[in-house]
Amino acid sequence: MTDFGLFIDGEWTQGSGGQTVPVLNPATEEILGHLPLATTADLDRAVAAAVKGFATWRAVSIAERVAILHRAADLLVKRADRVGRVMTLEQGKPLKEARGEVLRVAGALRWDADDARRAYGRIIPSADDTVLSVRHEPVGPVAAFTPWNFPAGSPMRKIAAALSAGCSIVIKASEETPGTACELVRCFTEAGVPAGVLNLVFGDPAEVSKHLIAKPEIRLVAFTGSIPVGKLLAAHAGSEMKPCLMELGGHAPVIVCADADPVAAARKAAFAKFVNAGQVCTSPSRFLVHEDVYDEFVTEFLAATDRVTVGDGLEDGVTMGPLANPRRLKAMEEFVTDAVSRGANLIRGGERLDRAGFFFAPTVLTDVPADARVMTEEPFGPIAPIVSFSDLDDALRIANALPYGLAAYGFTRSSATAEKLIRGFEAGILSINHCGGSVHEAPSGGVKQSGYGKEGGPEGLEGYLVTKRVSHLLVD
Ligand code: NAD
Repeated sequence: MTDFGLFIDGEWTQGSGGQTVPVLNPATEEILGHLPLATTADLDRAVAAAVKGFATWRAVSIAERVAILHRAADLLVKRADRVGRVMTLEQGKPLKEARGEVLRVAGALRWDADDARRAYGRIIPSADDTVLSVRHEPVGPVAAFTPWNFPAGSPMRKIAAALSAGCSIVIKASEETPGTACELVRCFTEAGVPAGVLNLVFGDPAEVSKHLIAKPEIRLVAFTGSIPVGKLLAAHAGSEMKPCLMELGGHAPVIVCADADPVAAARKAAFAKFVNAGQVCTSPSRFLVHEDVYDEFVTEFLAATDRVTVGDGLEDGVTMGPLANPRRLKAMEEFVTDAVSRGANLIRGGERLDRAGFFFAPTVLTDVPADARVMTEEPFGPIAPIVSFSDLDDALRIANALPYGLAAYGFTRSSATAEKLIRGFEAGILSINHCGGSVHEAPSGGVKQSGYGKEGGPEGLEGYLVTKRVSHLLVD
């Protein structure tokens, strides 16, 4: 395992309060180490460092900034095995997925860094003697809060965009997966990011977020997590009139149309469902299948479910690890009990595995009533509720009936039907005939209560920039 610590003003520290929390391996329930928690004095030091770091970093030339960030990406690639292993130990996902996540975030960092070279302003033909221009500048010190499901992916999205844009950052990564965040920070500092630019803290999430958001020096709040917490942080930020970027939860519908290939759709959907044990905000989580292809879809989905190998992510051949924490186990049990009590058929799984660790069996429910909690609340776990439909408009209505609007998936052979789905889905991330993951070059983000602001693509950087209109009257 790695050493845990807070990273403030270019130095690792155990904090000033002496308080720690244990970090568990979800596959064994063993304690991996003890994580120091920040006091408010530590947080204040981190904010002061970020103010100083911002002044330093924004003055670094774009060429130098990009070179440093590329060096950090090089280090991450070199350490992918080690960082991936730390991630598997503390989060549970299979080593191959963890290593892949590290390589992906290195790519995302490179993309953001290069994109910062193109943070163009513009000169506007003026109606009078002024030179009228638009400029983009870094917003300033950022406070970011990230969860445990992508221990590298979530923090890197914030750090990469902030640092590429020229901002400094105080990031509170998850207390449940701190080692990966510490490893990321080591890559940035060894690459030459100056002291104060990147500060990593841990603590009581509610106290840390309230304290940091209230600080006038913090100019932007970036959060990934659940909708209730997102609303709370947005309210704190709103009371200070601070902009926010909110990457919140979803409950992604999958519509499989009558003309789709049910076997291919089932294989792709089942694969996406059980990635990271379903603990993904864009995970397909409500399966609406046309009655003409329902039986074939369910048969193939079950076959794919049976191929999932659950176990410790460090073991060869494991394709699904444990859930990240005991809260998820309890939530899965409650979803299944509720659905079955309302008349759903439990066809696979439905219970935790009889072994140490937070393992839950890949679970398939069919004929799930619309009022079952798993059909209306984000499951965030390895549960697939499958229902049939006869009319596509009805399926779209069901898909859009929830306040979520993150991801949606459609399967059809007809381009006209595909276009109907693309226009009809109320979601920010759409995939047709596959279940696409996030990519660096295109924006990801939700609509409705799934949040606002984007990560990835040129839009990802925009959130970390402010726009200035300048009219310059030339004088002798
Ligand atoms: P949670 O809502 O308590 O916490 C989610 C994340 O937010 C955690 O990392 C937590 O440390 C953080 N958090 C909680 N309260 C906070 C606060 N006041 N200020 C700052 N950060 C805070 O739930 P949980 O049990 O950890 O996760 C379960 C739910 O969270 C899931 O059902 C899912 O909806 C959501 N979630 C979403 C994502 C995502 O990628 N959008 C990731 C993880 C969890």
